[in-house]
Amino acid sequence: TSSARRELVAGLITDVPDWPVPGVTFKDITPLLASPGGFSAAVSELVENAPREVDVVVGAEARGFVFGAPVALALGAGFVPVRKPGKLPRTTRDQSYRLEYGEATLSVHTDAVVSGARVLVVDDVLATGGTLLATCQLLASMGATVLGTSVVLELASLGGRERLAGEGVRVDALVT
Ligand code: AMP
Repeated sequence: TSSARRELVAGLITDVPDWPVPGVTFKDITPLLASPGGFSAAVSELVENAPREVDVVVGAEARGFVFGAPVALALGAGFVPVRKPGKLPRTTRDQSYRLEYGEATLSVHTDAVVSGARVLVVDDVLATGGTLLATCQLLASMGATVLGTSVVLELASLGGRERLAGEGVRVDALVT
């Protein structure tokens, strides 16, 4: 069942206290990836809860690639990588956004999506929502229709869901 699969997924995500800095509990999804049943359960759940009629799945470097690509295959959609600056070889459109400390930039090929393409954004963890929001804004600025976002794990206390909702972006999380 869906709830059994989500329980399996939840049990394979490992808390790493005080990493990368003191006070942060890092959610390590590598044990989930290493488990054939766990990885498959996560991808199946993401696929079953995806919106209908997705043209393109977008994933941000690097863990968005790992979950986004199999979801795209299963949906019969394309996959578009959003990368850190300086990695993509052709003309890009970039979007900077604020992190808790400092700033980050996301980059995508300008011809990666056609106007009107229906996009699902996939990532591993929703924390403050900054990364997903910047990704959605980048795609929307290129004329894509962002159907929503799907994550494996939502850290509810950080308010990412509310922040995205304020911008009209829906989030589907397998585990909260
Ligand atoms: P945010 O932009 O704050 O929502 O952060 C989301 C991005 O940072 C995701 O791509 C996650 O992979 C990563 N991330 C943020 N916080 C954590 C955490 N506590 N554990 C694991 N990954 C995290």
